[in-house]
Amino acid sequence: MAAEQDRGTVARYIPGLASISPDQFGMAVVGADGSLATGGDAKTSFSIQSISKVFALTMALGKVGDQLWSRVGREPSGNAFNSIVQLEAEHGIPRNPFINAGALVVADVNLSGHMPRESIGELLRFVRYLADDDSIAIDESVARGEAETGYRNIALANYMRAFGNIRHAVELVTGCYFHQCAIAMDCVQLARAGRFLMLDGRQPDGGQVVSARRARRINALMLTCGHYDASGDFAFRVGMPGKSGVGGGILAVVPGKASIAVWSPGLNESGNSQLGTLALERLAEATGWSVFSART
Ligand code: GLU
Repeated sequence: MAAEQDRGTVARYIPGLASISPDQFGMAVVGADGSLATGGDAKTSFSIQSISKVFALTMALGKVGDQLWSRVGREPSGNAFNSIVQLEAEHGIPRNPFINAGALVVADVNLSGHMPRESIGELLRFVRYLADDDSIAIDESVARGEAETGYRNIALANYMRAFGNIRHAVELVTGCYFHQCAIAMDCVQLARAGRFLMLDGRQPDGGQVVSARRARRINALMLTCGHYDASGDFAFRVGMPGKSGVGGGILAVVPGKASIAVWSPGLNESGNSQLGTLALERLAEATGWSVFSART
């Protein structure tokens, strides 16, 4: 990967991310047998950003189950991650839980019965449990920077509040959302946190996180909606359920085989990691790992 010239550009609209060097690349692969393979900057922490939407969705489904689907759809959006256009035509019901509007509804669900601090703490504890690593923390400066500049997300939340699809005060919901996006993890921690999705909802020690059916469905959503309006292209090139974030991370799952985290901060024009996507494409080619392949 070091020889690749085109590294994309880092997300500049989030103050804490604008100054990160694109000359970084890390990868971690956790096998279903517990093996771990790492490369590059696999132990450097980065802002997981939208990858947090996978963990927040898992938590919200644990709270309200399928009722969630009356407030959020399950279709790819075909629009940019922060688009407001579709929401008007669709009466404040976001297309899916992985676009920003959908993640804001999920944050609203997770806030029910809690103070924001408790809700954020609950999500952080969940991620620490999944990764089996209590050192995972939130980068407060990234959260603050986004709260100060996140006009579009604040607009999305206000707009959905007008439709009654955000139930708590907008500043509480966006506060939770900005904090979940600011969780900092390295590739090893992230690949570990994704293990339950490759193991039919179980942790390696057998603990059931979600049912096998729910894990399958979360994977399906990652495949169809995990890369915004480039989800089709990611499925075509890589063929694994995956969720990207504008911090340059991608969590990809090969059910029964591997949980993979890759990170490189330069993004392509769709907001997905340029080198991360390329690395996953090459890994898929080399291993045959794809949900569309008989070799998997
Ligand atoms: N915090 C980012 C935002 O809301 C997340 C976007 C992303 O990672 O795609 O704009």
